[in-house]
Amino acid sequence: MRTLPVPARRQLEKVYAFTTVTPHVKRVADNGKTVKYLLRLADGRTIETVVMQYDATARSRARTTICVSSQVGCPIGCTFCATGRSGFDRNLSEAEIVDQFLTASRDLAEGQRALTNVVFMGMGEPLNNYAAVVRAIRRWAAPDTLNFSPRRVTISTIGLVPFIERLSTEGLPVNLAISLHAPDDELRSSMIPVNRKYPIAAIVGAARAHAERTGRRISYEYVLLRGVNDSVEQAKRLAVLVKHRLSHVNLIPMNPVEGSPLAPPSKQRAQAFQSVLQAAGISTTIRATRGLDIDAACGQLRARQVQTVLAPA
Ligand code: SF4
Repeated sequence: MRTLPVPARRQLEKVYAFTTVTPHVKRVADNGKTVKYLLRLADGRTIETVVMQYDATARSRARTTICVSSQVGCPIGCTFCATGRSGFDRNLSEAEIVDQFLTASRDLAEGQRALTNVVFMGMGEPLNNYAAVVRAIRRWAAPDTLNFSPRRVTISTIGLVPFIERLSTEGLPVNLAISLHAPDDELRSSMIPVNRKYPIAAIVGAARAHAERTGRRISYEYVLLRGVNDSVEQAKRLAVLVKHRLSHVNLIPMNPVEGSPLAPPSKQRAQAFQSVLQAAGISTTIRATRGLDIDAACGQLRARQVQTVLAPA
């Protein structure tokens, strides 16, 4: 606003905020293809946002995906997750979610790149902050703001069934990713306590109904943990559970978390698991691990910062 006198600009700066998030730490890995931001909020709390660039393949175009956070910390407490272990502070506002996109976009614009996809896979359970998440998606989509299609947005949830059902009625063709991680309720409840309230059959039923209603694919996320959920027998049970014309399974070898006894399986074991699902006719990919050297697993960068801040001098 250079047409305004400098004192007026200074005054405006004091009174108004142009963004609700400020980059605090930025770390780059994978030859510049993964960028992780630790963003500071107005109340001094911090959240993580990650941008990942993917080259074109025979089956897909090049894309630049932003992984946004929906909460500061997370109340769900999954045993394998750094965010879950760091506790829960508060929900993010609509503006704080929208601004993660805008902040990363400005940074990318300097390199002549633009965001093509959004995934809610950062800190927090997005359906636990339902209203702000839906409003942020609508804000990105509005023709007078970014005109960013909800079809390019994926909400990843642990499976809060009533909110999946509500999402299906919003008229928003977002993609749904279900963090399943186990093929039976006993094992899943030991990893994800909220499974006792919303068991697997109810979650899969709600996800299928969303897919039928919106025509969007359901992606089942499955973190592979060595010796816990990665056997061929478990792959067979998973195949029965998720078989559907719009189902896709995304296998994710676990990102090692400091201080955790859990570990990823060998490459061969992960491939054997994938083969069982593919033989059952289910589209399955093994997600390439990104940015290990910058703590890309959710919550790790923040956890390390908090440790650094809290560590005695
Ligand atoms: S995996 Fe997701 S839902 Fe579970 S504790 Fe971590 S952020 Fe929360």
